[in-house]
Order: sequence, then structure tokens, then C-alpha cells
Amino acid sequence: MYTLELTSPLGIALDDAYVAAAVRRELRRDDLRAVVVKRSADLRGKPLWRYRVDVYAPDEEYVPYTLPEYRDVHDAPAVAVVGAGPAGMFAALRLLMEGLKPIILERGKSVHERKKDIAALSRNGVLDPESNFCYGEGGAGTFSDGKLYTRSSKRGDNREVLHQFVRFGADPSILIDAHPHIGSDRLPAIVENIRNCIIEHGGEYHFSSKVVSIDDLPDGKLVRTADGSAYDVRAVILATGHSARDVYEMLLARGGKLEAKGFALGVRVEHPQSLINAAQYHGAWRPGMPAAEYSFVQQVDGRGVFSFCMCPGGVLVPSSTEDGTVVLNGMSGSGRSSRWANAGVVVQIEPEDVPGDDPLRLLDFQQEAERRAVVPGSEPFAAPAQRMKDFCEGRISSTLPETSYKRGAVSSPLHEILPPVVAGSLRKAFPKVGIRGYYTNEALLLGVESRTSSPVRIARDPETLCGTALKGIYPAGEGAGYAGGIVSSAVDGIRAAMSVAAELKK
Ligand SMILES: Cc1cc2nc3c(=O)[nH]c(=O)nc-3n(C[C@H](O)[C@H](O)[C@H](O)COP(=O)(O)OP(=O)(O)OC[C@H]3O[C@@H](n4cnc5c(N)ncnc54)[C@H](O)[C@@H]3O)c2cc1C
Repeated sequence: MYTLELTSPLGIALDDAYVAAAVRRELRRDDLRAVVVKRSADLRGKPLWRYRVDVYAPDEEYVPYTLPEYRDVHDAPAVAVVGAGPAGMFAALRLLMEGLKPIILERGKSVHERKKDIAALSRNGVLDPESNFCYGEGGAGTFSDGKLYTRSSKRGDNREVLHQFVRFGADPSILIDAHPHIGSDRLPAIVENIRNCIIEHGGEYHFSSKVVSIDDLPDGKLVRTADGSAYDVRAVILATGHSARDVYEMLLARGGKLEAKGFALGVRVEHPQSLINAAQYHGAWRPGMPAAEYSFVQQVDGRGVFSFCMCPGGVLVPSSTEDGTVVLNGMSGSGRSSRWANAGVVVQIEPEDVPGDDPLRLLDFQQEAERRAVVPGSEPFAAPAQRMKDFCEGRISSTLPETSYKRGAVSSPLHEILPPVVAGSLRKAFPKVGIRGYYTNEALLLGVESRTSSPVRIARDPETLCGTALKGIYPAGEGAGYAGGIVSSAVDGIRAAMSVAAELKK
């Protein structure tokens, strides 16, 4: 097998015929099979796509990745999957492959109904605590940015996730892109297609079904929901995300072992996208080229400060799950075409930063920061905001630049509102970001970005993935504390489903 590198101007994708012709020309043979395996943007000089192409001779075997088939599970043993986020959905798809019947219990609504609740929240500031940017079909992943990057090394499982996304409607380019992205306009249809597949094969979906208790049965579990329904199942995959405090409390009451876990907290930073394009493309950005991204990591007094979930051409959204708090996040459509570039810029918080031995104490710290972000007398979910240099110099901004955040920005002393360790680290970090023009008063900081990852970990057996002292319950995904982001949560859900299958086969 040869490996070849091809390039094309950024924004102009190579098609199969071009690749085949380029391979024929380069290697002077016309009996070769060319497979594009990777595409990445190179902005160092003239902006380019760089493609890695694997080339196979006729006598070399090329084995494309194929997904395992789903089985008919109408009459198979049932497994409850609590939460229909990426971890829950991909666990359920894996259960189908393993011949087990997933019963998905989701506290929020179907994606179609959820869209209306999200519109009411964004436009009018009316929050449905069970149906919002975090809760509902598809979980926090549905109205997310849909970036599919992960640092997980479980390569095989990553491929399962990406191939499943393509099977259910994502653009196949995510299979080769170094930074794959779906977009919040495309995710809802994909999430619906996944549901239809699961139901068609014999699984069940129950919306507005908040799980309130899990009791032992001689040969399984009895799962009860707030509407009074009960489900008799062989095992439970608990994929409830990191915003469900009630689930952590339920597990503690049941004797589960939970521990405080480090997480990160900070602000969303919004720049004009044109400024980021000019910096990252060195002035070479032209219409038709992708909106530029950035990322950075710094150490400030031994503490990590880093950009998180950057959304080029994106918008800011209110992602609170309860009234009386302000939480921001970012998303973008597939075209990444808004005038703004936003990113979380967050500071690492460790369990030692919050004294005590309560496993939920970092959750309390997070909640306190979200409450302090409410601006007295403002519109619901309006965000406290400050220009970047004003923040670093401890000055309230006399005016604010235009923002994508529909709930509105209110000039506020973010340098005093944020926890001191967060404000202090950010004030030192921003002037040192090595992106040309980044440190500017054209940039707006809005608070708070607090739902970066789970501040709690549910202890589980590293082999079986079963919760410690929680026989038959498999905590999975971001809320369990073993994943962060869509792909790694989905991978963790898959692993949980495989563990359940292995256990039930014993
Ligand atoms: C606006 C936004 C943008 C984001 N952008 C990206 C991105 O671009 N890329 C990326 O990788 N990540 C992104 N994320 C993070 C990503 O969405 C999460 O990491 C991921 O969704 C976690 O998956 P999960 O399945 O573990 O949990 P979740 O997605 O949080 O799903 C948990 C589900 O469990 C349900 N649930 C909770 N409690 C109960 C209960 N008691 N009973 C029944 N159901 C319950 C919830 O309603 C929810 O639907 C974004 C998040 C947000 C909010």
C-alpha cells in the first residue's frame, strides 16, 4: 500500500474522479484503488486542504469498515437506558447489535417538541426545566455544535460512532475530516432517524419519563419514572449527563460511591469571526473558505486555562436547566456562517479547591457560580458581560459590542462576579493568548461557561463498568465522569452496552 498526499485549495473539495486521476498521474498506473482517509486544513501558507490517500494494488486486500448489523429485539431481554443523549442513544444502538432490547427512558421531550421549548427559551426566556438545551431527545448533543473531536484512543469505537452518524444522515466527510463537524441544523434529523431505527428493531422510547428510583428484583431491576410507570428490566445503563443533580442524589441514597471530580469553569468569549479569520489565515481568508477555528492552552500559576468547544461562525445559547441561574454555551449550523466566533475559555478547578468531603461539593461550587451570574433586574437569562481588556483591567464596560446572544448581554463586573480563582487566572491568561489581535476590547466575555464536564464521578468497576455498590447499574457517558463531549460519551455508552451484554450472557 502506498500513501500519497494530495492538496486542493481550501473550500474546494476533491471528488473521487479527481483523486483517481491524480493517483494514475502520480503513480503511472491505472489499476490502483485510491481511498481518501484523512483531510485537514493547512493555513500556514496559501490555505489548502491536505488529503492523505491510501493506494492499494490489485493484489492487496482493502477491507472497508463495516458496522455490525442490528438484530430484531422485539422479544429479547430488556435493558433500561436512562437518558437519550449520545451515551444513551449509542448504547441503545449497540444493544440492538448485541440482541438486547433497549427501553429508553428520557425525562425530556422528543426532538420535535423540544425545538418549540428551545425557541421559547431563546426568544422569551421561558425555561421548561425538563426540555431545554440539555434535556430532551438527543441530550445536550442535539442542539450542540456537533463537533466530533475526541482525544479518546478507542479508535475502533470512534469509527463505530462516526459511521453510525453517517448511516443516520451525517455528511460522509466526517469520516475523513481531522475536525469533523455536523452542525445544530442537521443533528435533530439524525437523532430522529436513530430513534426510528431503534423502534423499528423492537426497542422502546418513552419521553417525559424522568427516572426517580431503581430497585432490585431477584433477576434484574425495577425502574420507576415520575409519571408512575415501572419497567422490569435485566440491567440499567445510566446515561443521564452531568446536569442531573437529582440522579446523583438518588445514587448516593442507594449507597452508590460518588466522588468529586475536577472540571473547568469560566466564560464564553465572542470575537468578530472576521478578526479570527484574519489572524488564523494570515489575511488570506476569502468567502467560501471555512470559518477559522482556534484553540489554546496555558498554565497560569500552575493552573490550566484553556479554550473549550470553540464555535466558528456560531451563536451563544442559554443552557441553564433551572431558573435563577445563567449558563452559556455555543453552537453553530453546518455552514458556520454567523458573524461571530465564540469559545469557552475556562479555568481548571480541582477537588482540593473546594474544601470538604461531600462528593457533590464541586457541583455546589458550579451552581453558586451560575446563580451569581444572574444580573439583578435583568431579563431572564440575560448574561453579565464585559469587554476583554476592561475585564483584565478591572473596569466596567461603558458600552458593549453587538452579540449573537439573543437573551442579551448586560454590562457587569465579571471580574467580581466570577469565583476569584477563575477571574484571577483569566485576567492573567487573556493578554498572553498568542493569536494576533485576540486580546482586544472588540471581544466580549459573557458568563458563565460552567457545564464543561462533570464535577462528579460515579465510581465503577474498570472491567465490567458496573457501578460500585450499584449491582446491575452501569453509569455511562459524561455524567458518570468518564467522558466529555459527544464522541467520547457515545463511545462510553457503547462500552457500557457491551459490558451489559457480556454480563447477561454469563
Ligand atoms: C450548546 C451545547 C453545545 C455543545 N457542543 C458540543 C460539540 O460541538 N461537540 C461535543 O463533543 N460536545 C458538545 N457539547 C457537549 C455534549 O453535548 C455532551 O458532552 C454530550 O451530549 C454528553 O452526552 P451524554 O449522553 O453523556 O449526556 P447528555 O447529552 O447530557 O444526555 C443526558 C440525557 O439524560 C436525560 N436525563 C437526565 N436525568 C434523567 C432522568 N432522571 N431520567 C431520564 N432521563 C434523564 C437528559 O434529559 C438528557 O437528555 C455541547 C453541549 C451543549 C449544551
